[in-house]
Amino acid sequence: MSENSVERIQCIIIGSGPAGYTAAIYASRANLKPILYTGKEPGGQLTITNDVENYPGYPDGIMGPQMMEDFKNQALRFGTDIRYELIDKVDFTGPVHKIWSETGHEIHADAVIIATGASAKWLGLESEQRLMNHGVSACAVCDGFFFRGQEVAIVGAGDTAAEEATYLAKMCKKVHLLVRRDEMRASKIMQERVFNTANLEVHWNTETEEILGEDSVNGVRIANNVTGEKTVLPVTGFFVAIGHKPNTDIFEGWLDMDANKYLRAVPGRTFTNVEGVFVSGDAQDHIYRQAVTAAGSGCMAALDAERYLSDKGII
Ligand code: NDP
Repeated sequence: MSENSVERIQCIIIGSGPAGYTAAIYASRANLKPILYTGKEPGGQLTITNDVENYPGYPDGIMGPQMMEDFKNQALRFGTDIRYELIDKVDFTGPVHKIWSETGHEIHADAVIIATGASAKWLGLESEQRLMNHGVSACAVCDGFFFRGQEVAIVGAGDTAAEEATYLAKMCKKVHLLVRRDEMRASKIMQERVFNTANLEVHWNTETEEILGEDSVNGVRIANNVTGEKTVLPVTGFFVAIGHKPNTDIFEGWLDMDANKYLRAVPGRTFTNVEGVFVSGDAQDHIYRQAVTAAGSGCMAALDAERYLSDKGII
């Protein structure tokens, strides 16, 4: 097929995390002959996670990248056409949805399942990237367990940081919450929980200068941005909770989004404001953000797409 010819299909899935691959398994088994575009980070956020211990069905845990490999192979087994490219443009004007890949390839699809996920925001320190998965994590629910009984730090001041700090405090010896201003953005009730947790210390006006350690974290150097005072906290875990960014830029102007650019779905369903376009996973979920919830919503999106195509008489 030449790069410029239009490819006409029933169902396209954009994204390759648990939501995308689960949608692919269901859509393939329903004979929708889906094409799945992986995006720039095949496997999504789980490929930057080590052990996944909370996904049902893996009693001994599994490495995140291996789990995504398993998901992918299950989708391939039922015939999903997987393409290792990014989708960078859509046009949802007509009943048939137009989608372009980064190479300019144009696809016309009756049903679109969005599973583009979200990306954690990082501080941007060299040590943060180097020690990622070696003591540095952006997910307390995923990785907090590995630091039970230990001293950890978490940076952020929103609801996520407040929630994750109190979550960590339940299993860690001590939690340091690093807040860059003299107040938190988190809701009052979440702040109250933080202030009422005995083993949780808030460090105000505090910036992270460096995460210390060669192969694993053994401390963090912080600086007070008012007094200039520097301190080393003896932590073995460092959590970043400064927000996520949903990967939804290409849908701007086409699909309804909230103020943080998460796509809006009809409550309890996967329908967007455009007929035939369905959304699943973290692109529409800033609350749960778990592999298992993303997979569940990918299943829902595929079932919704199948019913839509059937009701329209397309399949
Ligand atoms: P937010 O964008 O609300 O907060 C991000 C926080 O990180 C801010 O306090 C910000 O500080 C801080 N921050 C950003 N960059 C840096 C940096 N470089 N160094 C230090 N700190 C930094 O993100 P959340 O993930 O907390 O929340 C996202 C949305 O999800 C919100 O609407 C939130 O209410 C919601 N949510 C709700 C929950 C619930 O209801 N249970 C649980 C979790 C999230 P600053 O304040 O100085 O800008």
